Amino acid sequence: MMIKGKGISKGIGFGNVVVIKNQEIKIQETTVENTEDELERFKKALQEITTETAEIVNNSSGTEKEIMTAYLMIMQDPSLITETEDLIKNSKYSAEYATEVGLNSVIQIFENMNDEYMAGRARDIVDIKNRLIAKLLKEERVDLSNLKPNTIIVAKELTTSDTAKLNFKNVSGIITEIGGTNSHTSIMARTHSLPAITKVENATEILKNNDYIAIDGESGEIYINPTEEEKNKLLEIQKTISEEKNELEKYKNMESKTKDGYKVELVSNIGTPKDVELVIENTSEGIGLLRSEFLYMDSESMPTEEEQFNAYKEVAEKMEGKPVIIRTLDVGGDKEIKYLNMEKEANPFLGYRAIRLCLDNVDFFKTQLRALLRASAFGNIAIMFPMISSIEELKKAKEIVEECKKELDEKNIAYKKDIKTGIMIEIPSAAIIADKLAKECDFFSIGTNDLIQYTVAVERGNEKISKLYTKYHPAVIKLVKSAIDGAHKAGIFCGMCGEAASDKLLIPLLIGLGLDEFSMNSNKILQSRKTISKLNKKECEELASQILEMASATEVEEKLKEFIEKNV
Ligand code: PEP
Ligand code: MG
Repeated sequence: MMIKGKGISKGIGFGNVVVIKNQEIKIQETTVENTEDELERFKKALQEITTETAEIVNNSSGTEKEIMTAYLMIMQDPSLITETEDLIKNSKYSAEYATEVGLNSVIQIFENMNDEYMAGRARDIVDIKNRLIAKLLKEERVDLSNLKPNTIIVAKELTTSDTAKLNFKNVSGIITEIGGTNSHTSIMARTHSLPAITKVENATEILKNNDYIAIDGESGEIYINPTEEEKNKLLEIQKTISEEKNELEKYKNMESKTKDGYKVELVSNIGTPKDVELVIENTSEGIGLLRSEFLYMDSESMPTEEEQFNAYKEVAEKMEGKPVIIRTLDVGGDKEIKYLNMEKEANPFLGYRAIRLCLDNVDFFKTQLRALLRASAFGNIAIMFPMISSIEELKKAKEIVEECKKELDEKNIAYKKDIKTGIMIEIPSAAIIADKLAKECDFFSIGTNDLIQYTVAVERGNEKISKLYTKYHPAVIKLVKSAIDGAHKAGIFCGMCGEAASDKLLIPLLIGLGLDEFSMNSNKILQSRKTISKLNKKECEELASQILEMASATEVEEKLKEFIEKNV
């Protein structure tokens, strides 16, 4: 049987279904009559998770063994559960609710200690609490970091934090009922060359755990128990995809330059330190965007300075002196962080997000900046601020960086003294006053994903109006030009880290407009290097001047297609 959705990430996947129902467990306040039975239930659940953890300790080694041993010790500490037991005995709370309330108060105590190490332990206790509650509810939560090989995930909607937890090596595909082409989940699927399909109505009902299926991430087709004929058809497509991949091998380690020698930088967008592997494998020349949100979304509470420092340092060291642009926290919009208790807003994309939230919460912003500065002693890190809309925001952000530098100087802590600070150009106001902003920072990176949505007033994930969301709109192109010209006038470089940077059709235009750096999913690097190598800078400049005269997106797209067909 075949069902169909919308293909959002190319590739063929064969595997067994794992359906992810609601991963969030909500606990209601409930009381019980028989407190003795309830205490027994609680003790049994605690015993079960303790035994499971002890098994992990026995089967692990090195750092993992040390961490898990410490974790086991917390679990076995009687003071951890005193309050929970009292709540069952005295307030007659159900075991689930007592666990929620009792352990939350322990977590609070640890969080308030103002000590990095203790704050880290608070997160262990959050994890213990969740495991206990899942046991009590007899709900086996799907452990996304520990899936069997060849798993195809099926979910109503995969949150960005769910995707961040995935161990991509074991995932052969993703199917969701809701989600857009430009959502962060689909960007991550494309980064990992994972076939992904969305808009599959009732997928979580039709597909059952362990069903064997085959999927085509381009056509959006899903075959349940595929026939030999269907399998062969997909294997053929898979063969073509791998031939194309082999052909690109020769572009590894080559310089990224046009036929007439105009050199640009081809760098990667990454979501977590794990992605550095793909950066190196594709011989990308650096990292143009590290979305630091992973650290915040991947955890149950605020990441400590030490945790952040270690993650940034790991990336910087692995990149061995190549540029690593790390973007400060960009939450809000479609990226939610539970423990920040962000209020629901009518228009989250126009709301309290990214730099706005950080400038309002200086302590929290400084934690990240200090971690970034300290990590800069170990590699070529630059700091980038997202969602800058005005000169005041940029100046304020830079002032806070200076304060952090002073604090580090006072303590004699090393950092890169000439660390560069730059901004995302992703709001039309910033693109328009780019010449002014450029005097206040060291580089730009154009974020077309957001820039398009704000320019044409089309939410990036809204499929209903997705036809209007177009990177070929003449207004978008004018703003891109304004950003590049503004940067060059002030003598700074201008990159692009939105998805448009890897669009084969747009690359000649961007070269023509003088873009210095193209940042994209690592798996697009070789294809883009190939495209660039077939171009001639002068011809691209002529193309750009013709395009700048055009009035409609359709006309622009047609012209770009014609140019690519002729030259590449
Ligand atoms: C962008 O807006 O183009 C961008 C690169 O940032 P994000 O997709 O993380 O919003
Ligand atoms: Mg953005």
